Amino acid sequence: MRIGIPEALLFRRYEPFIRKFFDNLEVDVVYSGPTNGEIMERGIAHCVDEACLPMKIFQGHVVKLQAECDKVVVPRLMKCEFGDSICPKFVGLPELVGKGRAGSKIIFTEPLYLNDRNKLRKAVIKQSKQIGVSKAKVNDAFRAVEEFVRARKQGECYGAGAVSSCEGGGENTGGITGIHDGAIKVALLGHPYNISDSYANMNLVSKLKRLGICPVTGDELTREDMDEQMTGLMKAPYWRFYRENFGKAMALLKKGSVDGILYVSSFCCGTDSVTIEMIRSRIGDFSMLVLKLDEHTAEAGMDTRLEAFAELLERRRQKSKGTVPFDFLKGEKA
Ligand code: SF4
Repeated sequence: MRIGIPEALLFRRYEPFIRKFFDNLEVDVVYSGPTNGEIMERGIAHCVDEACLPMKIFQGHVVKLQAECDKVVVPRLMKCEFGDSICPKFVGLPELVGKGRAGSKIIFTEPLYLNDRNKLRKAVIKQSKQIGVSKAKVNDAFRAVEEFVRARKQGECYGAGAVSSCEGGGENTGGITGIHDGAIKVALLGHPYNISDSYANMNLVSKLKRLGICPVTGDELTREDMDEQMTGLMKAPYWRFYRENFGKAMALLKKGSVDGILYVSSFCCGTDSVTIEMIRSRIGDFSMLVLKLDEHTAEAGMDTRLEAFAELLERRRQKSKGTVPFDFLKGEKA
């Protein structure tokens, strides 16, 4: 039996763990590969019109795998590893994708609580039966993943996956490494799948580097670093990515390590509409550009906006030399 795994949504973030688990299950696994034009077109054709771009892309990966595999993994993620809630579209992912005529092949639809070891293990055992894998085998694979998780340092999961900042020259950067020390730096924020999918975001990281801008993803920040930024909020953020992006924005600004914020969002994303406004309410007139992605986003328009943003940041940097820094927590001059 061939099992298909879509390389979309949170796949990049959890990729090492997913691969470790399925390697240890010793089943025949096919990964869908990075998003491309054909996958995107298939997703748009099969998904409901109202869905956001990341969901349409996920659908495209599923449709591709459906033709090649006996079963396709479509997880129903209920809670993330710290117990945070996630967008309801993740909770209803099997139903959303099922409407795309892949329903009969979908597996791993049991609710997954990444913050509850026993619930998670039981759900995975139940699902694995459908592909003929014994409980003992699942337990072995589960233990292998747990050992792997322990070996990694805490907080590492905050990365978008496959996106390097200026120091590296990773796959998505187009190999551009000529960023000098004094380069303009922007906090590159947004949902991990919008940042790590270079087809969906039209090679954003490479574009930034060509403009001489260093993207700072804040991947080194830990959960504690994020939580410190929630002080003063009326209520702790409910959504995982609200907490993460708001926390990263505030932490990076307080450190003074960025000249601006670039927030990559999906058209009609409800959680982002709150997150973006919360960040704006805290940063005063600090420079922030929001790029909205959907299937109609024109590359030329994006290039123009990025060039204008780069110019603005450069002008502001020149102007602010020697001026009093902002107190970002109050949004006023310190
Ligand atoms: S959080 Fe926003 S972008 Fe992500 S799946 Fe939900 S609506 Fe789409």
